[in-house]
Formats: sequence, structure tokens, C-alpha cells
Amino acid sequence: MKEAVAGELAAAYDSSVVDQVRAGGYHFAAGRLTLHLAREFGFCYGVDRAVDYAYQARRRFPGRNVFLTGEIIHNPHVNQRLRDNGIRFLSDPDERPETLGADDVVILPAFGVTVEEMAQLAAQGCTLVDTTCGSVLNVWKNVTRYAQDGFTAIIHGKVKHEETRATASQALKFPRGRYLVVLDKAEAGVVCDYIRHGGDREAFIARFGAASSPGFDPDVDLVRVGCANQTTMLMSESLEIGEMVGAAIADRYGADARPQHFRAFDTICSATQERQDAVTALLDEQALDLMLVVGGYNSSNTCNLARICADRISTFHIADPECLISADEIHHRPVGAPSTTRGREQTTRGWLPPGRVTVGLTAGASTPNNIVGQIIKKLEEFCR
Ligand code: SF4
Repeated sequence: MKEAVAGELAAAYDSSVVDQVRAGGYHFAAGRLTLHLAREFGFCYGVDRAVDYAYQARRRFPGRNVFLTGEIIHNPHVNQRLRDNGIRFLSDPDERPETLGADDVVILPAFGVTVEEMAQLAAQGCTLVDTTCGSVLNVWKNVTRYAQDGFTAIIHGKVKHEETRATASQALKFPRGRYLVVLDKAEAGVVCDYIRHGGDREAFIARFGAASSPGFDPDVDLVRVGCANQTTMLMSESLEIGEMVGAAIADRYGADARPQHFRAFDTICSATQERQDAVTALLDEQALDLMLVVGGYNSSNTCNLARICADRISTFHIADPECLISADEIHHRPVGAPSTTRGREQTTRGWLPPGRVTVGLTAGASTPNNIVGQIIKKLEEFCR
């Protein structure tokens, strides 16, 4: 079946333009444009596999309803193509997941689903096509171990992100399992203060109530903690948060007792790390006028690539080629804005400098090459 869909996938998502730029040493020049492409960008192994499985599922079950629980990955073009292929989305308001049964096929996305959702679909007898990425499963394994051993999982992630919701649910498989989600170093700092000194329990619960397991009690549940993260976070920040929490534990219980109170595993996936490393190398090696970062506005790993770039250089996070209106006008998501879909787009004029211009380009793990290729062609057109 894999061979049967290979041609369809290549036609939908490959790009001869990207192949040429790669063959040219990730460098492209035309007119007044010089373009440097990051050496790792675009579809990761987990996304590749998830999309492949979805196409295979549509072929394997021709007469049956095939559903996705929600977006398979955070790229609007890929999701739309799946809709065009007849795959329905259970997250749509007119779908009724509770009516599904043995005749129905449900594809689980690359970032997984919660333990409850999985159990519910299995209980209804649906045929499940599980595309959960192995790197996400690795995080679940660690969180499960924490829960078994009575350690609270402190998850660096976005509390509403599908992957983080699924990961947090793993902690609740065991009676002693607890979780607490922290978005960034500022939130981790609040948690570390509480670990060190205790504090206003009710205020803590009010602040983190929606980001913690039911009945979370910081006086009890921050005594033994293990760190984990959403696989697509900024690696440097996840590592710093792990160190912050470990230091707070050592301050509270003494360095010798740290192993009894603290565990940590680096659960950033290798694809995320490679894309972050590659864009950092690009910024180090090339004198760029600006960076374009391509990917869905709700794609966590794309937003983090944009953060890395924006710290160093003028950066535009764009969803697709349609964002490039002209050499004067660009539509983009403000870097650092909440990760949502198109609602928060802004327009900037005069984004492409006159004269010779050197542009850096990268794309998040859910962006197919055909989108990257179309962007290169548009840049070429603007710089004739
Ligand atoms: S970003 Fe990482 S964890 Fe997510 S699907 Fe890709 S490889 Fe898997």
C-alpha cells in the first residue's frame, strides 16, 4: 500500500525547485536575490509517516468513512488535501464522534490523542490507524514512569496543544500520577519559588488550576517531580527549565537528596532539534537581510524557529506563498503572538529591501516542500 500512494504523495508535496536549491548547496541566486535555505527544514519523519498513513488508510478502506480526530499536523494545506480526499474531521462542529462504530475508521494524528479519547474510540469498536510519532511515545514512556513512581510530571509545553494534552493524560493512568504544565521560564520560576519556599497555596492553584491534574496540591505534588516537554518546544528553554527545577529541588532538600526528588529526560525530538540547530547555523554563517519562516500559525515548532530568528534579525513568519503579496507587502504572524490560526496576521510594508537582498529561509516540521518551492518562486519573481 505504501508504494500505491508514493506517487500521489510525491505529486502533492514534493518540489523540483527545492530539490534544485538543495543540489546547489542550499543556495540560490537570481536577479537581485540571494537565498540561503537552512540545511534541515520542512517535513520531519513523524509528519512524513502520519501523512503517508492517512493516504494509505483512505485507499485501504475505500467503502468506509475515514475520520481524523482533528488536524493531522498543523499545516492548513495538508489538512485541506486530506479533506479533499474524503477524510472527515471529528473536530468539525457537525460531526458526532459518539455515533461512530465498527464500520468507521479513525486516524490518530502525529501528536497523539488523550488516553480517554483513545479508550472511547476503542470501546466504540472503531478501526484505529495510529500515526502517533515515536518521539511522542518516548515522552509518554517517561511521563508514565514518573506517574508509576509517584513523581509529578512538570511538562514544558502549551497546555492547549494536542500533544501536551495527550502527554498530560498519560500521567493520570496511575493513582499517584500528577502533572503540571509550564509554558515558559517565567512560569517555571513561579513553580521553583514554591518548591524552595512554599507560598500561597490557593494563589498557586488559581494560577495553574487549568494547567495541572485535578486536585493538584502544590504542597504535596511538588515534593517529587520529573521534567518532560512537548517535543516541539525551544530546546534551550526546555533544558534551562529542567536545570531551574533541579536547582530548586536541591535548594529545598539538599544536593544529596536531589535524586530522590528530581528526574529529567531530554524529550525534545531530534527533528525539532535539527531544525533549530540548522537555523542557528544559517544565522551564524550568512549575512542575511531578513529571515522567512514558513509554517502553520498554530505550529509550535514553526513558532519556535521564528523566535530563534527574531532574536537576531528581521523575521517574518508566514503560513504560505499567499502571504507574499508583493515586493512591498507581506502578511505574517507577529513573532511571540499566541499560536493560533490566521486571525492574528498582520501586514508589513517595505519588507523586502531595495537593491541586492539576501534572504534566509526555513520551514517548520509540518510544512511540505511544495509550499517552500512556491515561496522561492515568488521571491524570484519579486527580485527580477
Ligand atoms: S516534530 Fe518531532 S515529535 Fe513531532 S511529529 Fe515530527 S518528529 Fe515526531
